[in-house]
Amino acid sequence: MITHVKSNLKRVRCYHIKNSLESLLQKAEDSSYSYLEFLNQLLLQETEKRNQTRINRYMKSAKFPSIKVFDEFDFKYQHSVTQRQINNWKELVWLDNRENKIFMGPPGVGKTHLAISCGFTAIQKGYKVRYYTLNNLVDELLLADFERRLKEELKIISKNDLLIIDELGFLPMNPKQSNLLFQLINRFYEHKSIIITSNKMFTEWGSTFGDQVLVTAILDRLLHHSETIIMEGDSYRLKDKLKKND
Ligand code: ADP
Ligand code: MG
Repeated sequence: MITHVKSNLKRVRCYHIKNSLESLLQKAEDSSYSYLEFLNQLLLQETEKRNQTRINRYMKSAKFPSIKVFDEFDFKYQHSVTQRQINNWKELVWLDNRENKIFMGPPGVGKTHLAISCGFTAIQKGYKVRYYTLNNLVDELLLADFERRLKEELKIISKNDLLIIDELGFLPMNPKQSNLLFQLINRFYEHKSIIITSNKMFTEWGSTFGDQVLVTAILDRLLHHSETIIMEGDSYRLKDKLKKND
């Protein structure tokens, strides 16, 4: 009987129930489960394990440089964002509304930390996320364009619900690079969300993109539905150093 049930579970692709069937049956016996409770336990086993597998897969494909979470963010050190604001972000209404976020500020204030934390939270709740530094993103787009597969590449990136573009402003871009980025941002506009981190204020973006007309078009789309978070303060990287010098 058990072999027969297992082979049927395999046929309907309930692998997690199949793999733990003996222990689930034993638990039901020991705890005198009702039929309904037993069915509930079986389904929980399958759905929770499937969810975990999906999270692992999405975490891998997000390509985060490191894992950062909101719970490890120290609000005593960074006053530009509040716990209440972050609790709001965790609800992900902004992602459902396809809004963008722009974290701006000097190095080390936690821009990347918060951007990745947003992405991490989104993945836990079922959204697909991809992280890039601006340089990596532009390099990938240039290569795709060179190999005449830009359209396909833009399509693949747009399958994500959230695109994180880190470190805008570190290096200036030429018109060709800026144009490729514009095409991508245009695709995301009102369909998906983008998070950008930058050490430059909007007024300085013109020199980064090397084309004022294009930067106006990019900002027009990015800022239409968005929240800009200006972060200030000392670099967290220098926290302990600054303390020692007090
Ligand atoms: P930025 O992107 O603004 O240059 P990061 O987010 O990379 O800065 O932060 C630098 C390092 O300091 C990271 O390891 C990050 O996790 C940590 N960090 C920054 N701000 C905070 C904070 N307020 N609380 C906890 N860790 C922080
Ligand atoms: Mg950073």
